[in-house]
Amino acid sequence: MALRFYNSLTGRKEEFSPSRPDFVAIYSCGPTVYDYAHIGNFRAFLFVDLLRRHLLFRGYSLKQAINLTDVEDKIIQRAAERGMPIDQYTAPFIEAFLEDLDFLRVLAPEHRPRATEHIPAMLEMIAELQRRQHAYVADGSVYFRLATFSEYGRLSRIDPEQLRAAADGRFDADEYTKEDLRDFALWKAASADDAAAWASPWGRGRPGWHIECSAMIQDLFGPQGVDIHTGGIDLLFPHHENEIAQSRCSHPEGAFVRYWLHNEHLLVDGRKMSKSAGNFYAMVDFRDAKRIKDLLGRGAPEELLRIYERGNLGVAIRYLLLATHYRQKLNFTFDGLLAAEQAILRLRRAAERLSEICGESAAVPEQTTSPWSALSAESLRLFGDALDDDLNISRALAAVFDFVRELNILLESQRPDAGQAAAALNFLVEADRTLDLLRADPPIPGSSASADQKQRERIEALIADRQLARAARNFTQADAIRLQLDQMGVAIKDTPAGVVWQWK
Ligand code: AMP
Ligand code: ZN
Repeated sequence: MALRFYNSLTGRKEEFSPSRPDFVAIYSCGPTVYDYAHIGNFRAFLFVDLLRRHLLFRGYSLKQAINLTDVEDKIIQRAAERGMPIDQYTAPFIEAFLEDLDFLRVLAPEHRPRATEHIPAMLEMIAELQRRQHAYVADGSVYFRLATFSEYGRLSRIDPEQLRAAADGRFDADEYTKEDLRDFALWKAASADDAAAWASPWGRGRPGWHIECSAMIQDLFGPQGVDIHTGGIDLLFPHHENEIAQSRCSHPEGAFVRYWLHNEHLLVDGRKMSKSAGNFYAMVDFRDAKRIKDLLGRGAPEELLRIYERGNLGVAIRYLLLATHYRQKLNFTFDGLLAAEQAILRLRRAAERLSEICGESAAVPEQTTSPWSALSAESLRLFGDALDDDLNISRALAAVFDFVRELNILLESQRPDAGQAAAALNFLVEADRTLDLLRADPPIPGSSASADQKQRERIEALIADRQLARAARNFTQADAIRLQLDQMGVAIKDTPAGVVWQWK
């Protein structure tokens, strides 16, 4: 079955056909780094991680960018309140965001452009819009002339005329400089005491938010744009509508974006989790014991700390955010988080049972198909097909847990040999390239040292077993042990001085 995505531009699922065969260009709107990112934001990035991993699974090579919006009005205002330059103000939030992504195992994109590093491209695009009569200057600011773009409203299905009525209703005396109230700012004139301002042909100022993404896409991908553009559903209007207007009008020869994919929101008690509503859990709240203890005071269950100590909190949040289809709303609850860990443990138990059998004797590849390899192959087919269908994660996870159930039934009546166990395990390993749930979180500094020590001893023992297997030229068994270590999150390297290992 062909890969299909729901394209917000057409409002239907479409067969995916990138502009170049086997290669996909993706741009994802990243965070505005004026504060710590909350779990809701990470729903957007986990959806993109699933998309990335599935495209890799299907053999595409990728060029993906997730930007960092490091200049924007709120950033400028807060930095000014603290008397800091904006880069100093945003630095800790950027650092925390990148650590959060690691904590959730989000694969790094090829590019992480920062808006402040692409100001020249923004100036160029604005100048081009002005040359083509799509923009005008008023009081040192530059505005996009909305009436000049006949396709405006196509993505959001908003009639620009209705927009005029809405804009009239909200008439704001500050905005009297605009020709038309619907026009939006491309460049904002700075006042004399503004800390963050850049020189431009129109005087000192700063970019509008929308132009940042259009210019970064132009800089990184050229006028042909990207195959897929993603973002939360709240960005569809006006942000993405304005991106289309800016990019298509400055470079009419380019398609800009072929497929628009939007994720739904994470809710808390039925309301969108957002920084401004104050109902948010910052991701950093889940990354160290002290902050988790603060969460216990805000109604979180004690068990949260236990999950963290078991090294499963990052992966449980990952599961929770991934397990609901990206176009459905997801209500965040702590019960959901506890259930997520249980689901992961169930998976890991199945993988451990199989890898133990693999490790017991030399695995001889199967000569004929057995129920074990048949189950494995069929499950992988169902898993891949489900994700091909607009990343249908519910069906993909059903394939995984049906596999575990059927495996457990089979194990009750038969015992596989090492080769059969390896064949069955293959499905879990392959699916885990996309899900990334089998390994525990990397050990947390300061966590229970004794548990750490025990695990270290177990790793050393497995490495010694592997050396013995290699010495006996039993490479199948050696490989099975390496796989087991891999699932524990351990990477090993053979060096002339012996085997060295580290957490992945
Ligand atoms: P922001 O930092 O607010 O610009 O948001 C970064 C990304 O997170 C954007 O793609 C937003 O649409 C997305 N986002 C913000 N809040 C939520 C939420 N509660 N649930 C899902 N995605 C969100
Ligand atoms: Zn954007």
